[in-house]
Amino acid sequence: MKKILNYINGELIEPQGQKYIDNYEPATGEVYSLIPDSDHKDVELAVKAAKEAFSSWSQTNKEVRSSYLRKIAEKIKDRQEEFATAESRDNGKPLSLASKVDIPRASHNFSFYSSAIIHFASESHQMELGAINYTLRQPIGIAGCISPWNLPLYLFSWKIAPALAAGNCVVAKPSEITPYTAYLLSEVCVDIGLPKGVLNIVHGYGHKVGSAITEHPEIPIISFTGGTQTGQTIAKVAAPMFKKLSLELGGKNPAIIFEDCDYDKMLETTLRSSFANQGQICLCGSRILVQESIYERFKNDFVAAVKQLNPGDPKAKTTKQGALVSEAHMQKVLAYVKLAKEEGGQVLCGGHQVDLSADGLNGWFVQPTVIEGLDQNCRTNQEEIFGPVVTISPFKDEGEAIAKANSTKYGLAATVWTENLSRSQRMAEQIHAGIVWVNCWLLRDLRTPFGGVKQSGVGREGGFEVLQFFTEPKNVCIKYDK
Ligand code: NAD
Repeated sequence: MKKILNYINGELIEPQGQKYIDNYEPATGEVYSLIPDSDHKDVELAVKAAKEAFSSWSQTNKEVRSSYLRKIAEKIKDRQEEFATAESRDNGKPLSLASKVDIPRASHNFSFYSSAIIHFASESHQMELGAINYTLRQPIGIAGCISPWNLPLYLFSWKIAPALAAGNCVVAKPSEITPYTAYLLSEVCVDIGLPKGVLNIVHGYGHKVGSAITEHPEIPIISFTGGTQTGQTIAKVAAPMFKKLSLELGGKNPAIIFEDCDYDKMLETTLRSSFANQGQICLCGSRILVQESIYERFKNDFVAAVKQLNPGDPKAKTTKQGALVSEAHMQKVLAYVKLAKEEGGQVLCGGHQVDLSADGLNGWFVQPTVIEGLDQNCRTNQEEIFGPVVTISPFKDEGEAIAKANSTKYGLAATVWTENLSRSQRMAEQIHAGIVWVNCWLLRDLRTPFGGVKQSGVGREGGFEVLQFFTEPKNVCIKYDK
């Protein structure tokens, strides 16, 4: 069986303890490769390598750093189908989604930072009394980068690329549930001759490898994307050590639909924003709020369309719904459907596991699910389900829509559908979220701030500010005689 390896000090190596974790393919439910079950000893090796590489990498001309990142971007592009196939197999997501969205965007993250570091400028402030302040932005040291399973390479690269561009060395941990594209990335780094120790990828569990990274005294900066609870654990460890911290966490995003929307466009996009990647995108809308005058029409049309979204083989070109990422996650999602019924919700469609064993697929498929009749304060509408389950509820006017939209502890993203420009502005101002999409979803310009408010995270940054995050600013004040 194929063994995934750690990438430490420029080499692909086995974990020190020689232990492995089974890597399941969500569509078939079968183990298809082995993941290093690394621990603090492997992290220690990675830190040692990164420390040794730092003095040279941090002094390397930024054009040279840029060229390494560009080469990585190009290699990912060259091997796009291989990366996409690996991601689809690891994650259960449709191959078409991985090859059209995830992998090209991951490659783009590297090319964006390859270019950004060249154009990166620091600030300067002149004082009238005769002094100039300028900001030196220097690399910090070793960056710890920890990422989740839902967009494995895309989110991994969103951390690694800016950290490396800024001149840091990196110890990174992908999710143990979807490790394969990070392994392919380490092959690419070997292939292009990235200097040894600059990037180290240690595979394994969060409570072993993730916590060893977070706790390590020689890793002063942590960039984490994942669940809110894990973020809290990491913050508790990192705060007393005064580590620089970026946390991108969970969400419970509202999609708000007004009667004056472009109905067809809204319906098509709301299907996607609810169920893309089986609802396992942190930015998916999971609470659909519909103005009461069009509620019944929307409900009928939406449910009819959702019923057509049948899960199938992620490898097939026509498949729009793949498998959920793991059996445990599927059970969690189904438990929420049960809870929704107990809370008084009516399941309008879906709500059950789909049996595709006749096609040789014994994995974790769930029929896309729509539930109505729930109060916004119930657990189903307050807790992140992170699967193909949405609730729909009516609202009367803007005030009620805003109150409902803002009623959770999360504040990651929101979508507003209206053709009324003034209304869209009022809504955007009052919704408490890191991003508000108006008449669209998932459009992403890397220069804009990204991330959540409230319990959806801290450290919301645009692409250039992420570069700044990975630097240590130092003010130099020079007095001159007038
Ligand atoms: P998770 O928090 O379980 O795991 C994320 C990563 O943290 C994994 O690599 C895991 O191994 C590691 N980890 C677990 N325990 C750790 C610990 N004690 N110390 C250090 N690392 C540890 O999240 P997940 O289930 O992989 O991902 C789903 C979650 O991620 C959802 O809540 C989703 O909303 C969130 N997410 C947020 C964004 C965003 O941009 N805000 C993007 C994608 C996913």
